[in-house]
Amino acid sequence: MSSLFDNHGRPVNYVRLAITDRCNLRCAYCMPEEGINFGPRSTLLQYEEMLRLLRILAGMGVEKVRITGGEPFVRRDVMDLFQGMAAIKGIKKIALTTNGTLTRAHLPALWALGVRQINLSLDTLDRDRFAQITRRDEFDAVWSTFRAMVEQKFEVKINVVLLQGRNDMDIIPFVKLTQHMPIGVRFIEEMPFNGGETSQGKLFWDWKRIESAIHAEFPRMRKIPDPPHSTALNYRIPGFAGSVGIIPAYSRTFCGTCNRLRITPQGLLKTCLYDQGVFNIRDLMRAGATDAEIKTALLDAIGNRAKDGFEAEQRRLGGFPARESMTTIGG
Ligand code: SAM
Ligand code: SF4
Repeated sequence: MSSLFDNHGRPVNYVRLAITDRCNLRCAYCMPEEGINFGPRSTLLQYEEMLRLLRILAGMGVEKVRITGGEPFVRRDVMDLFQGMAAIKGIKKIALTTNGTLTRAHLPALWALGVRQINLSLDTLDRDRFAQITRRDEFDAVWSTFRAMVEQKFEVKINVVLLQGRNDMDIIPFVKLTQHMPIGVRFIEEMPFNGGETSQGKLFWDWKRIESAIHAEFPRMRKIPDPPHSTALNYRIPGFAGSVGIIPAYSRTFCGTCNRLRITPQGLLKTCLYDQGVFNIRDLMRAGATDAEIKTALLDAIGNRAKDGFEAEQRRLGGFPARESMTTIGG
């Protein structure tokens, strides 16, 4: 049971830590070809600072951490961070979101440190479409990581951001992948965080359209209960080994049970995916704040969370959509 609650009575026990804004892919929905204005390395939270923050959060009731980015494995010595986290009392689950290009060699060490849940971003099962969407020819590396994850018995969820005309032909093949593999495939609504100037028009692949497309092919697909705090609507096709999820990331139907905080690579705390950041923990730490002072600042922020992503969007001073990239938010 969490001991930390926000101003809307929601438990807060999960933190998503984006450990770098850098990435070796250039997914079109996430950032432009030329990348974004990556912060100088000195502006990134150091591992020691992250571990200190996690110790403070664990003491407040946070039990689960997800490491994300940018691509976590482009940051040097990242296994040192995993080792440090595994030693923090109170952190019961360490999860990872990765693009899978550099991950394979680290799988045994991750398992040994207790990591079980890995979300792998893979938007298509076709090598050419992969190269078009990510602007890099890395499909083979990602696929071999995926196979290794399944063989090594990780709990694997594939994240698929749906883009009209670019990978919607992969919806059914992805669902078929769950027939014999005990994995989750999750289709995600595209959000306007691509680091570019142009915003998408109306979202074509919203969760209802995704659900109808799958249902048309698999009429026996059934809704199953969603785990607590799940952002996905979950489904299963009778007889299939795995499951299917749909994440209404843009429609934001899941805010009522949101239990998570986000920390950007530069130490900005976000109490909602759609807010522009509440305060900078790195600055507070580097100004010499004590653990108690940091805890107080965190409690203030958690006590003032927007009730949902729409309120958070309205509170943004710079307007919305912003030129933010998901590579600094972590997903
Ligand atoms: N590089 C890692 C990866 O791709 O898994 C971790 C960081 S990535 C920003 C985290 C997740 O955010 C990925 O699953 C990615 O597909 C998703 N994502 C990125 N940009 C998005 C967008 N504009 N809308 C919806 N999801 C997005
Ligand atoms: Fe990199 Fe992940 Fe963004 Fe793709 S979604 S560009 S892999 S950070």
